[in-house]
Amino acid sequence: MLTIINSFFINLCILFTLFTISFLPFRNRPRITPQSPFKLRILLGIQSGLIALILLANALHLEKILIDLRSIPIMLAVLFGGWVSGVVAGMLFLIGRFFMITDGEYVGFYLAIATMVALVLPTSLLRLKLDNTRNTLLVFTTISVAAFGSALYYALPLELFYPILFVYIVVIYAGACAAYRLLQELRRHFENVQHQQQLARTDALTGIANRRLLNEAMANLTVEAEAYALILVDIDHFKRVNDTYGHDVGDDVLRELGMLLVTESDDRHLVGRFGGEEFLIIMPNAQKDEVSRLAESIREKISTFPFETSAGTLHITVSLGACHSNDIEVDSVLKHADEALYHAKESGRNRFILAL
Ligand code: GH3
Ligand code: MG
Ligand code: MG
Repeated sequence: MLTIINSFFINLCILFTLFTISFLPFRNRPRITPQSPFKLRILLGIQSGLIALILLANALHLEKILIDLRSIPIMLAVLFGGWVSGVVAGMLFLIGRFFMITDGEYVGFYLAIATMVALVLPTSLLRLKLDNTRNTLLVFTTISVAAFGSALYYALPLELFYPILFVYIVVIYAGACAAYRLLQELRRHFENVQHQQQLARTDALTGIANRRLLNEAMANLTVEAEAYALILVDIDHFKRVNDTYGHDVGDDVLRELGMLLVTESDDRHLVGRFGGEEFLIIMPNAQKDEVSRLAESIREKISTFPFETSAGTLHITVSLGACHSNDIEVDSVLKHADEALYHAKESGRNRFILAL
C-alpha cells in the first residue's frame, strides 16, 4: 500500500514541477482556449503528452500494467486547448508507450490505447459544449476513473484491484483539482504581471504611452541607429483653457488630443504624453518629407477640430517642433526638436518647424 501511495506521490511531484515549467512559454498569452492560435494548442498538446510520458516512466509496475497519473495532463490539455491539444497529447503518449513495450507484452499497450481513446474522445466532445471550469474537470476526472478503473479491473486480481482503485480515485480527484488550481494561479500571476507592465507604460489621464515608454523607445532608436524623427507637440496657451474653463475641461482636451494624435499617426509611430500638455511622436524609419507631412497635417487637423468637453465644444491650436536624425545622438535630436518647438512658439504659435 505504501509503495502505491509513494508512487502516486512521486507522480504528483513530477506533475506540479513540470506544469510550472511548461507554463513559461505561455506567459505572454496565459489564457489558452480552444480558440487560441493553432501552434499554441499543438505546443500545449506536445507538452502534455511529454509530461504524461514522464509520469509513465515513473509509473507503478503491477501485473503487466503501468499505473500512473497520465490522465491528469491529458485531461488538462483537453480542458485548456480543446480536442487538438488532447489528440496531440494522446498520440504522443501512445507513441512513447509503444517504445516501452517489454518482452512482447502487448496487453499493457492495448490497454493504454483503449484507456487513452476512452479518455480523449468523450472529453474532447464534451469540451465542445462545456466551459473551462473546475466542474468540467471533475466530469473529465470521472470519465478517467471509469476508463482506468475498467483497465485495472481487467488487469489486476481482485485483492489488488480494490485498494489500488481506492487510492487511484482519491489521488486522481485531489491531484486534478490541485493541478488545475496551480494552473489558474499561474495564469492569474502572469496576467497580473502583464497588466502591471501595461500600467507602468501607460499615461493615466490619456491612456496612451507615458514618458517611461517613450524614453525606452528612444533608447532603442539609438541602438538600431536608423533614420528616425521626433515630433514634439505642445498645446498653445493651454493655461488659458484651464484658467477659463477649469482643470477638468483641460483634462478633457488632453484626453481627446491624445486620441487624435494616435489616430492621425501611423501604426509604426509611437505617440505618447511627454509631460503636462506636451506630446511626443516617435517615427522610426522615417524620411524627412514624411515628418513634415505628418506634422503639418496634425497641426491643420487640430486647428479646426471640435474638442467636445464638459464645457461644450472648444477649439485649440498646437505648435510642433521636429528633428530628423542625421547621425546624431537621440538626446541631441530631442534637444533640436525642443528648440524648433520654441521657435514655433516664438514665431506666433500654431506652427510647425523642422530643425535643420
Ligand atoms: P504655450 O503656448 O507657451 O505653450 O502656453 P501654455 O499656457 O500652453 O504653456 P504653460 O507652460 O505656460 O502652461 C502649461 C499648462 O498646462 C499649465 C498647466 O496647468 C497645464 N497642465 C499641465 N498638465 C496638466 C494636466 O494634466 N491637466 C490639465 N488640465 N492641465 C495641465
Ligand atoms: Mg503649451
Ligand atoms: Mg508646454
